[in-house]
Amino acid sequence: MIDGYTRTCGLIGNPVEHTISPLIQNTLAEKSDFNLTYVPFHVNEGMLEDAVRGGFALNLLGMNVTVPYKNDVIPFLKDIDPLAKKIGAVNTLVRVENGYKGYNTDMPGLYRAMVSDGFEFDGKKIVILGAGGVARAVGVMLAEKDVEKIVLVNRTVEKAQIIADELNGYAGREVASVLALKDIDKLEGDGYIAIQATNVGMFPKVDEAVVEDESFYKKIVKGYDLVYNPANTKFMQLLKKQGKKAYNGLKMLLYQGIIAYELWTERKISDETADYIYDLMVETMNK
Ligand code: NAP
Repeated sequence: MIDGYTRTCGLIGNPVEHTISPLIQNTLAEKSDFNLTYVPFHVNEGMLEDAVRGGFALNLLGMNVTVPYKNDVIPFLKDIDPLAKKIGAVNTLVRVENGYKGYNTDMPGLYRAMVSDGFEFDGKKIVILGAGGVARAVGVMLAEKDVEKIVLVNRTVEKAQIIADELNGYAGREVASVLALKDIDKLEGDGYIAIQATNVGMFPKVDEAVVEDESFYKKIVKGYDLVYNPANTKFMQLLKKQGKKAYNGLKMLLYQGIIAYELWTERKISDETADYIYDLMVETMNK
């Protein structure tokens, strides 16, 4: 019940109408008995600074930030967590003295989601499909692990090269290389973990996969699609057809939310609560 002590968190973005973050955050508050409510705020172009300052003035405990503001919000923060700075994108604002500190919970969220689905990275070969904002962040996360190699595949190969150079700089070794999407048949060897980080296959274009060539899927041991709508993407279907395990991005969405909630409230969320909310999310997505 909302009363005079209720704290508020929110999501700023444009659009925000499709979000299922309120389901995640309000259920977390309910389950952990914290007097908190979470609401979406549609922030029009040019209003981002006002939104951040206004949120602080209204005593908001924290905010999530979504497309298209994950980079643009950075100049309006009082502080930034080193990982978010390295990734260059902020999706969570935590209230501090005089303003907000920015964090990136997308990547630790993806890591927690993949580990909970049994993925291991040490000594593994990884292929990342895409070279956008999220692919770059995934690369930064993986470059910190002891992976054997990372191959970045993108339609615009120059974008992949920029990220690969950056990752090699972080790792201090030639861990990352690139391949143009049109040359995907030249991917060397097999036994790769594939992470699908393009927009291809998202609702409503559910019949598309960024790679259609079946021989690619034979080289993959298991795959993770960051897209979660539809739940069973074409990329996942093509992997499953080859007898490989495939997961969608819904758990990443859950865990980025849990990590944000833990930062705001300094409470630890149990696996049991995480599982409960995941089931609710699946139910909602299937409606
Ligand atoms: P982005 O910066 O716009 O990058 C889009 C990427 O997709 C680029 O590599 C682009 O290639 C590629 N691409 C787009 N259309 C293509 C096509 N027709 N054929 C081949 N490649 C194509 O996007 P982003 O922010 O990184 O997001 C990527 C995906 O991650 C989205 O699907 C988003 O929904 C998902 N995501 C999921 C979560 C989660 O919690 N599960 C969180 C964040 C994002 P070019 O460089 O050649 O244009």
